[in-house]
Amino acid sequence: MKKHSFLFAMLFSTVFYAQEVSRERVVNVLSALASDEMKGREIGTPANDSAAVYIADRFKENNLSYCTGSSYLVPFEYKGKVAYNVCGIKKGKSEKTLAYSAHFDHIGSNNKSGDNVFNGADDNASGVTLMVGLSDYFKNENPDFSMMYIAFNGEEKGMKGSKAISEIQDLQPAYKNINALFNFEMVATVSQFGKNALYMTGDEFSDLDELFNAKAENQLKIHPDPYIGQQLFYRSDNVSFVKKKVIAHSFSTVDMNTAKHYHQLNDDLSVVNFDNLTQIINSFGKTIQKLTPENFTPKYNDKVNLN
Ligand SMILES: [Zn+2]
Repeated sequence: MKKHSFLFAMLFSTVFYAQEVSRERVVNVLSALASDEMKGREIGTPANDSAAVYIADRFKENNLSYCTGSSYLVPFEYKGKVAYNVCGIKKGKSEKTLAYSAHFDHIGSNNKSGDNVFNGADDNASGVTLMVGLSDYFKNENPDFSMMYIAFNGEEKGMKGSKAISEIQDLQPAYKNINALFNFEMVATVSQFGKNALYMTGDEFSDLDELFNAKAENQLKIHPDPYIGQQLFYRSDNVSFVKKKVIAHSFSTVDMNTAKHYHQLNDDLSVVNFDNLTQIINSFGKTIQKLTPENFTPKYNDKVNLN
């Protein structure tokens, strides 16, 4: 009997959960990005370049292709210097694409003594970790959708990176194939809706959340944006793609009314719920596996402002 259940457990874990992302991996990626060595990942600093390279290395590990040129690092000009977005593609059975993005830059360090690094664990090492986690999840899969992974730079300075990469000529045909872009922004905490749940900005503008929730696995749930007066839909990197008429929303767990770590020194590993983030990554992966160009083609309604 014992032997039997052991064998069953072996089978179960190797066959059905082969692609699940481990909590350990989630801890590793998020901790690296939010480490003091990354000095708060401010655009225009060597530490920001290091963060971009770190993400590019994860894309390489997962055998992604380049989006453009001969590198995952996609340069743009910021204040007379070169800064990088990071972009990778996984080809699926269809040209139709799901895109996942998150900004990786943060606000740097200050000059005071003691803890002076703004680690930005929630803002937005967490979002990058969710995006990288999805590329981990699909590493050995052959999904229906192609997948595009983008780490944006310069969000904290006015969404500079997402704007720059959204305008690259080479990439316009790829953008035309995007059925939906999921932009992850502060997903380290348990949402006010409970575990394994996120809210979506601009839910009133498209049917993405309805279509997604209909297929959701593991009780994952996308809720409407509870901070509707704050117009978050137009204040995150997704908006650079909204202007390209791509269905693009931001997804978050942060409670804007009670969070005390936003742009503070205490936005570090202590605010991160790794169990919840790991569960969200795997639930997302499992849900996306069921999405096809036939069952998942969200549309905007006429309430949205595309300009
Ligand atoms: Zn921020």
